[in-house]
Amino acid sequence: MARKIVVLGEVRDGALRNVSFEAVAAAKAAAEGGEVVGILIGDSVHALGADLIHYGADRVVTVESDKLNQYTSDGYSQALMAVIDAEKPEGLVFGHTSLGKDLAPKIAAKLDSGLISDVTSLEQAGGNLVFTRPIYSGKAFEKKIVTDGLIFATIRPNNISPLDKDETRTGEVSSLSVDVKDLRTIIKEVVRKATEGVDLSEAKVVIAGGRGVKSEEGFEPLKELATLLNGAVGASRGACDADYCDYSLQIGQTGKVVTPDLYIACGISGAIQHLAGMSNSKVIVAINKDPEANIFKVADYGIVGDLFEVVPMLTEEFKKI
Ligand code: FAD
Repeated sequence: MARKIVVLGEVRDGALRNVSFEAVAAAKAAAEGGEVVGILIGDSVHALGADLIHYGADRVVTVESDKLNQYTSDGYSQALMAVIDAEKPEGLVFGHTSLGKDLAPKIAAKLDSGLISDVTSLEQAGGNLVFTRPIYSGKAFEKKIVTDGLIFATIRPNNISPLDKDETRTGEVSSLSVDVKDLRTIIKEVVRKATEGVDLSEAKVVIAGGRGVKSEEGFEPLKELATLLNGAVGASRGACDADYCDYSLQIGQTGKVVTPDLYIACGISGAIQHLAGMSNSKVIVAINKDPEANIFKVADYGIVGDLFEVVPMLTEEFKKI
């Protein structure tokens, strides 16, 4: 059944985040031949509309205001509700990011709609559009269908492949004027932690360190390997609690959820709370001195050894490729 699906593009530092293109691919599948309308919200986002179209959106609606230069849930929800009012979509797709996790439930409540969150895949089966999402910290998956009302989903980054970029695709990029008012939150300043390299949530390669790295300096060989593979460094909570690295690197139940193509766990025991954040990675390599370490149960490849010997050896080998 052809439907109109709107998809929210996420802008960071003047560029669209990759999850936006993945969301367009999901919206395209959900539209089943219908129209996919991208939405961009911000103070200067019009020029990014073409990017969403190159990745599969049919057209794009932008809402621009200097009051929307930073994300606030009430500012964005005013903008989004105006677009929804104008477009009357039959479905909505957002990224399952900090922004999506905050905004999607709010919009779903306003629309009196259900929401399928953290979707890792969607497919046609038995005449239904079936959404798959992990449950019980990734130990099981459930499949859901929407029987009534809007199709509304947030998609987990790095799970649904974006469509190939086609720069010959064209479509209308129009703007909708929205009077954003009565904001209860005004962001005066954003102070960011200095982060190096690739965004951990979107990285295709993650080199993660645990308490086994033993110190802040112990992360250096991991950083070298991550840089070489254009990846990001992550950590267990054990490493964060021991003050070897910042909590922004924490992966797991109470940290970030990552699904890279390659996850290399170095000196991480594999506690259930850590596995919750990485066990859906496509290929998992574990390096641990203890052959009985739990992490080997989820690893595709296991190396029993000292990470301070194995990681530099891996780096040298990758340099030869
Ligand atoms: P350890 O369990 O101490 O393991 C260190 C490992 O390093 C060992 O297996 C050891 O054999 C190996 N090792 C040591 N030296 C070397 C070496 N030189 N070379 C190779 N291997 C070596 N944890 C998370 O990670 N993320 C979460 O989000 C999270 N949320 C939690 C939420 C709750 C409510 C609770 C209760 C806990 C949570 N935890 C979380 C903590 C979790 O239970 C574990 O304590 C933590 O993951 C352990 O971190 P670790 O594997 O680095 O340390």
